Amino acid sequence: MTQVFPVSKQHLSDKVEHFTESVIREMTRQAMQYGAINLAQGFPDFPAPEEIKQAAQQAIAADVNQYAITWGAKNLRNAIARQMKEWQGIDVDPEREVVVCCGSTEAMIATLLAVCNKGDEVVVFEPFYENYGPDSILSGAKPRFVSLRPPQTPRGEWTFDEQELREAFQHHTKAIILNTPNNPTGKVFTRKELELMRDLCVEYNVLAITDEIYEHILYDGAQHISIASLDGMRDRTVTINGLSKTYSVTGWRVGWAIAPPAITNAVRKVHDFLTVGAPAPLQEAGAVALGLPPTYYKGLAEKYRTRRDHLIPALEKAGFHCYLPRGAYYVMTDISAFGFSNDIEFAGHLVRDIGIACVPGSSFYKHPKDGSQQVRFAFCKKPETLDEAARRLENLQRR
Ligand code: GLN
Repeated sequence: MTQVFPVSKQHLSDKVEHFTESVIREMTRQAMQYGAINLAQGFPDFPAPEEIKQAAQQAIAADVNQYAITWGAKNLRNAIARQMKEWQGIDVDPEREVVVCCGSTEAMIATLLAVCNKGDEVVVFEPFYENYGPDSILSGAKPRFVSLRPPQTPRGEWTFDEQELREAFQHHTKAIILNTPNNPTGKVFTRKELELMRDLCVEYNVLAITDEIYEHILYDGAQHISIASLDGMRDRTVTINGLSKTYSVTGWRVGWAIAPPAITNAVRKVHDFLTVGAPAPLQEAGAVALGLPPTYYKGLAEKYRTRRDHLIPALEKAGFHCYLPRGAYYVMTDISAFGFSNDIEFAGHLVRDIGIACVPGSSFYKHPKDGSQQVRFAFCKKPETLDEAARRLENLQRR
């Protein structure tokens, strides 16, 4: 008889005790299990642009099939630097200030591993994209959350308290993690808000780590500003971005971090030993993607606006209170009208009985009760998918 090895707590890292598996990815599995429409995980169900698919195929055919330089193929780094100059007016040295990683997900955790020591704190706005919690813990840092308060008026903005933010900077603070346009709220941070963060970063000698993956997905005239473009921030900011959302290739896993040389060196070391490099042929295709004309980006934002304005009325009709996003492709909603005791129960009912997967709001908060009457929907989907979702929503009853 084979002896079953009794794995116990002593065989596992303490670190993994402090977080759970991703709820977003779990909801995708449930969507598949129940044959539900997946409005949970944020990935498009429509094709990526033809030009860049062809560029990837050509790169493979041309035998770009071995490791790229660990910190990124030269063509892609050059394109990243060029785009940062064009869009944000920031000069970047592609040789010394760019690290290409396996998605912005790796860029974020590699950055935190490269800058944080045990006992450091990182400031994170809450609700937050769920990765930032485990990312902080794995890098030895403690996240300190600052509340984003839901809009008080139907088309208002999420806001935060200046005093609460200032207080959060005073605890062995290493960095603030900023995500603008924001997942899950859709908030696009204003220049004034970013200037306040700049002033605090300078006053308390803190870094900004900014996830700008939704940079090009903006509505209603909202403008994306990279905090690195503000006076005094160029040399204390790590700007993270990637191909996934802008070019609808979330499965390619190509992202990057842009940072001053000393930080870049540290991130490169971590990245090298974590993953060696991002997929070489897809980096070549990425260089082509970053060269798409301005009309591409305009079209992208406009198509997402149409999708937003397709899903939200259907949600409102079904009884959700929606917080209108100004950027990114999610809508946070309030579910109080349905009379469920919490978001997990509600999301379970929605995926099983109605056939739509969403993300329970609690996964964006430290204390589950803070998100217990919220759920998030992703609208990066084809019109047919959103039509079908609207049809299914008609079966949802208020209790
Ligand atoms: N950013 C996407 C979301 O919030 C998913 C990212 C991921 O699952 N890696 O749904």
